[in-house]
Amino acid sequence: RGKRGTSSVVIYEPGAAEAPTGHGLLMRELAAALDRDELVLHYQPQVDLVTGRAVGLEALVRWQHPTRGLLPPVEFLPTLEQSHLIDPFTAWVLGRALADRARWAELGRDLFVAVNVSPRNLTTTGLVGTVAALLERTGTPADRLTVEVTESAFGTETEQAGDVLRALDDLGVRVSLDDFGTGYTSLRQLRSLPFAEVKIDRAFVAGVASPDPDADRAVVASVVGLAHGLGCVVVAEGVEDDAAAAWLRAAGCDVAQGYHYARPGPWRDVLGLHTNSTHS
Ligand code: C2E
Ligand code: CA
Ligand code: CA
Ligand code: CA
Repeated sequence: RGKRGTSSVVIYEPGAAEAPTGHGLLMRELAAALDRDELVLHYQPQVDLVTGRAVGLEALVRWQHPTRGLLPPVEFLPTLEQSHLIDPFTAWVLGRALADRARWAELGRDLFVAVNVSPRNLTTTGLVGTVAALLERTGTPADRLTVEVTESAFGTETEQAGDVLRALDDLGVRVSLDDFGTGYTSLRQLRSLPFAEVKIDRAFVAGVASPDPDADRAVVASVVGLAHGLGCVVVAEGVEDDAAAAWLRAAGCDVAQGYHYARPGPWRDVLGLHTNSTHS
């Protein structure tokens, strides 16, 4: 998107005309935040609708800002995504998430971890090497990692993104199509790319138990049929109450995620695992 100034490299060009305000300042702060470990991961459980048990946790980044408090991704992710910091950022998220997963697996909860990656991370093959190295370093079986990609990843760089997703699939990593229904994935892409999972966007899920549910129910039911027909697990996001969960279970949805089960939080809180002292 067109910010003032031209490129994301401005923070490494002291002579650039950009004033240290707005976008430029945020970029500088974000670079420092990555160095200083100010970013934290919260986790939200994904619950098997049949057994009622958590099967995995999705990592959701927050920024523990020195003066502004705990910031949600909407405050800083768009800036990161436009910059060259997006690859080191995603590598950091993957490293943190896989290290955290190793800890909860050690404590007897062998749940998978789901990590969001940005469309720009799929424009080079660097992500594949990063994932392979981190799986190795943390001793993580590849199928305990889910990589969530949004449909916008296929807007322009479809071919390269497809290569990256196939390489991740070859490693044994699960690839999830996030926010399904809000973007422009064609049925051809859905069929030909190696998705293990489809996540139905909460825009559709929110309405299935509302006073006027017919249209959203029709959409969700047909996505369930389509995804199952392609061999994908179906996850509903944004499940906020028991009525929605009950309808989704009856509709054949496999997994649910939302405030009804838990808000995102530190993994020990979310899993109810407070062994001894405070968390790291
Ligand atoms: P998303 O991947 O679709 O994640 C779901 C968002 O919905 C999260 O917002 C979550 O807190 C929120 N949510 C979960 N359950 C409910 C519910 O029942 N009702 C409602 N209203 N909302 C619910 P959050 O944490 O603010 O994240 C926003 C977006 O930022 C994410 O959407 C994802 O696209 C992006 N994001 C978050 N962490 C990362 C990351 O580490 N890397 C990248 N590339 N993107 C991330
Ligand atoms: Ca996601
Ligand atoms: Ca989503
Ligand atoms: Ca979403």
